[in-house]
Amino acid sequence: MPHIDGPRLLQDLYTLRKIGAYKSGVHRPTFSAEDMQSRHWLVQRLEAAGLAAEIDGIGNVHGRCPKPGVKLLIGSHLETQNHAGWLDGAMGVLFGLEVARALGGGIDVAAFADEEGHFGSFIGSRSFCGQLADAEIDRLANHNTGQSLRDALAAAGLAGRARRGVDPARYRGFIEAHIEQGAELEDLGLQIGIVTAIVGSRRFRIVIEGQQNHAGTTRMAVRRDAGVALARLAVAINDLFPTLAGPRTVWTMGRMSLEPDQPSIVPGRAEALFQFRDTDAAILDRLEQALDTLVAEANKGPCTVNITERSKTPPAAMNPDFQDMLEQAAEQHTPGKHQRMPSGAGHDAQILSTRLPAAMLFVPSIGGISHHWSENTADADIVRGCQVLADAAARILAG
Ligand SMILES: [Zn+2]
Repeated sequence: MPHIDGPRLLQDLYTLRKIGAYKSGVHRPTFSAEDMQSRHWLVQRLEAAGLAAEIDGIGNVHGRCPKPGVKLLIGSHLETQNHAGWLDGAMGVLFGLEVARALGGGIDVAAFADEEGHFGSFIGSRSFCGQLADAEIDRLANHNTGQSLRDALAAAGLAGRARRGVDPARYRGFIEAHIEQGAELEDLGLQIGIVTAIVGSRRFRIVIEGQQNHAGTTRMAVRRDAGVALARLAVAINDLFPTLAGPRTVWTMGRMSLEPDQPSIVPGRAEALFQFRDTDAAILDRLEQALDTLVAEANKGPCTVNITERSKTPPAAMNPDFQDMLEQAAEQHTPGKHQRMPSGAGHDAQILSTRLPAAMLFVPSIGGISHHWSENTADADIVRGCQVLADAAARILAG
């Protein structure tokens, strides 16, 4: 069984944490100076571990084991959300580095660019998996600054570099370790989560057209109030969905707006953004059908209701054999204190799973907090998670 060096792993994490430090967290948006500094630092650490390392044309850091034989790819991402946590992404990348050192061969390490979506959706892992066209790179820009992705890549010194694509024959598969970003493991007193599947999501825009009019003179009987129609629809969704949902289905109307949004005007237009998520595509289909039915019923009222799909990501099942090997390793290091669970958040592993057998391992997040600078995980949980990963990686490579 391989033995990881816990203090060495933590020292690397602490060093990386200083790049773009913000309070007890990190501010390293994709292709910022600090983000690029972290990528160059990682290249040096990978080379010091005996891997051939480079940053490719989309910003992915690749560390490749030069020895012959089949490889396991381990990684995650280095950039952060704005003013966010120090472990989200970074931990999974440095687990890859530490497992590569502990096993002494057979491990490639990757840090995929922009998992956090400052420019697009999973552009680094999609590029690696052959799912990012040049035309999309031409089109994308930073959501906060407006800088085009092409300009950002040029400013980062990456213009004209080749993009490295996955060679499925090289790999037995991919594993991503990550903080849980929820409080389930902590609440249950568990130390390791083995991900069964990453949820898929469907996102919609609902637009309701009524008739804007005077709030004092327009009789109730003749009103076409878009606000009332939206409120009715929102209640109908929340009445119907629980009868169709699975135990972990979630749905959210995260934005509702009225026009003209004035106290003495009957709203003429209402708009809502609505989404739902589950690991079971059949449940997602069922909910989408139900939503269509509710919209059709809403259209029998005085307003016109239109719904359009904004985006759709399929659920990604994790490889069952890898789950077994992660579970065996977890049982060895923390008997009875692990569980299988879905991931409610998106991860690069969902993209990698379209090309390679893929799996994920979670460690507990203190208080369930993430995407915030106070995000943290106990050192002992970090070290244990990496040891479980190293053990599972050795089993997978031997298998
Ligand atoms: Zn992440």
